[in-house]
Amino acid sequence: MTDLPDTPMLDQLEDGPWPSFVTDLKRLAESKAAVGQLLGQLERSYNKRWNYWTGTVLNLKGYGGGVLARYSDLKDEFPEVAQFHTVRVIEPSGYVYSTEALRELCDISEKHSAGIMQLHGMTGDILLLGSGNESTHAAGEELMEKGWDIGGSGGALRTLSCCIGPARCEMSCYDTMGLTKFLTDKFIGELHRPEFPYKFKFKLSGCANDCANAMMRSDMPLIGTWRDNIRIDQDRVAGFISVKGEQYVIDNVVSRCPTRCITLSGGRMEIDDDNCVHCMHCINVMHSALRPGDDRGVTILIGGKRSLKIGDMFASLLVPFMKMQTQEDWEELAALVRRIWEFWTEYALEHERVGEFIDRISMTSFLDGVGLEPDPQMVIAPRANSYIKFEEYSTPRMYGEPQKKPNVVDREVIGPEGDDS
Ligand code: SF4
Ligand code: SF4
Repeated sequence: MTDLPDTPMLDQLEDGPWPSFVTDLKRLAESKAAVGQLLGQLERSYNKRWNYWTGTVLNLKGYGGGVLARYSDLKDEFPEVAQFHTVRVIEPSGYVYSTEALRELCDISEKHSAGIMQLHGMTGDILLLGSGNESTHAAGEELMEKGWDIGGSGGALRTLSCCIGPARCEMSCYDTMGLTKFLTDKFIGELHRPEFPYKFKFKLSGCANDCANAMMRSDMPLIGTWRDNIRIDQDRVAGFISVKGEQYVIDNVVSRCPTRCITLSGGRMEIDDDNCVHCMHCINVMHSALRPGDDRGVTILIGGKRSLKIGDMFASLLVPFMKMQTQEDWEELAALVRRIWEFWTEYALEHERVGEFIDRISMTSFLDGVGLEPDPQMVIAPRANSYIKFEEYSTPRMYGEPQKKPNVVDREVIGPEGDDS
């Protein structure tokens, strides 16, 4: 057994009733010396509040992406983790594994890395952690031989992730897993080889509950929605009220609707669908009495991201509604994606996420560049001054439309009759 370093700070994470990764790593350290040294370096990081890893790129033959290379800045002290790389493996469709496939992955991880695997974190993929320069190539070769796909690092399309969708969730407005598989197959080249200014992520959620965290964690969130009316089963509404009481429905559904478009009268619920923003709140509370409409599709957003250049960004609305049922619908989405990638790749700065790019060039120019019409639903906040029109303050359009002077109405110049001649 390897001697473990003293880890008083990490040891505190073993307290409490929940499972601890520290306990698991200590157990693993009994057979893998690198894991003991990993704990030592991690303890130092906690203590000094400093990251001792230097990250870079390591290319596998035939791939440009798929490996996060990390080198320890404390390699003299912890030589076993001098190289501690991560191989990213694309998950199987639907996140369903045969036991044979899992054994295969575990064997490769055991043989070539520190024997630590992480499944489906925020990146979506499977991570094999702790390989060195040579063993990373060996792991890659073996994974490829056995039919696993590697991908999703650097300036490339990252491994897609989605919510469980209609496989198990009645809220879903489209086939999240089917579309994830389609986009993965369609863009497998972009997943393997980094060709973009920086990373690009899709995340797919079947409804606005956004269980895939798409809006704040992906460059192109695809959120399921509907454009007809919420389906109301009045018998079930009455049944819900008889169990929970009318006041409960008023307090938890009617008064919590963000646009106040629900009314309850005589045990019947009515919704003014023109004012519904499809937030899902009422459906989440009364999920058998209320359900999304039948005319379903996706809302496409653009530009969500975590930190780096200009901090965290929520995605902005790009296409309010697109049907996503047939192969043609999926192909139409793929064509839009290609237009966006072409425009972004052509004009973005190095390491500029698409959200930062839009922030720099303006949404008007971006829409022009990718061939989409502006839509009133893209407005983030209503204008504060009704005497000033947006169009006149907008930046010049991509292809040279002349800029107009702001049309600011000066009441003193116009005079009481509105005559400024
Ligand atoms: S995002 Fe919506 S459809 Fe997807 S799992 Fe969550 S509730 Fe269900
Ligand atoms: S989905 Fe949201 S906005 Fe629409 S009726 Fe329900 S609570 Fe109101």
